[in-house]
Amino acid sequence: MSDVAANLTEIQQHIHAACARSGRSADDVTLIAVTKTFSADRVREAYDCGQRHVGENRLQEAESKIPLLPASLQWHYIGQLQRNKVRKVLPQFCLIHSIDSLRLAQYADEVARELGLFPQVLLQLNLANEESKAGFSADALREDWDSLLRLERLEIMGLMTVPPACDDPEQSRPWFRALRELRDELATLTETPMPYLSMGMSGDYPIAIEEGATHIRVGSAVFGKR
Ligand SMILES: *Cc1c(COP(=O)(O)O)cnc(C)c1O
Repeated sequence: MSDVAANLTEIQQHIHAACARSGRSADDVTLIAVTKTFSADRVREAYDCGQRHVGENRLQEAESKIPLLPASLQWHYIGQLQRNKVRKVLPQFCLIHSIDSLRLAQYADEVARELGLFPQVLLQLNLANEESKAGFSADALREDWDSLLRLERLEIMGLMTVPPACDDPEQSRPWFRALRELRDELATLTETPMPYLSMGMSGDYPIAIEEGATHIRVGSAVFGKR
């Protein structure tokens, strides 16, 4: 078995164990294999093991791989989204995890109308208000929530976050919990379901699942060190 096959098997075991611990179904957790910096050949190894959801954080890198790989792969856009990339990202990705401001959301909505699309998106939260990271603060999202709901084209499926880097994965737990609670708060307020929570990476995805993640974004644990 290749490393990728063994790694995917091990990750699936951890997903099942985390779901069992928290009374969830493993069917409710989508593993996104993050393929940034890895070649199309490596991505195909994952595909051959049955992996169908993959994530990239740069358009150009994704566009170099998409034509080389089976059309049944589902591409997720997880990186910072620049306005000048929106027109190309919307039609090529099944879910955009990184809508990080009201302005970007409004622009993406306009472009989606021009293109005749109803893209599924997540709103990215910067819960710790880190300088180095993009995303809504919790308060900014509360403030912008009504305006976001008025967008007719964007289907807001949920929230995404990347917590502050840390050595102990338990330190991510409060951020994951805060994302779920914010989702619950907004969903209840306006009866908007927002079923998706994109949270958890190689170091902390079991904890994210315990806290309700529906989409985990896992790179190095699948493909090895970058
Ligand atoms: C690179 C990246 C990941 C995957 O990180 P790993 O630590 O390799 O699992 C997840 N989410 C985002 C936004 C990323 O840029």
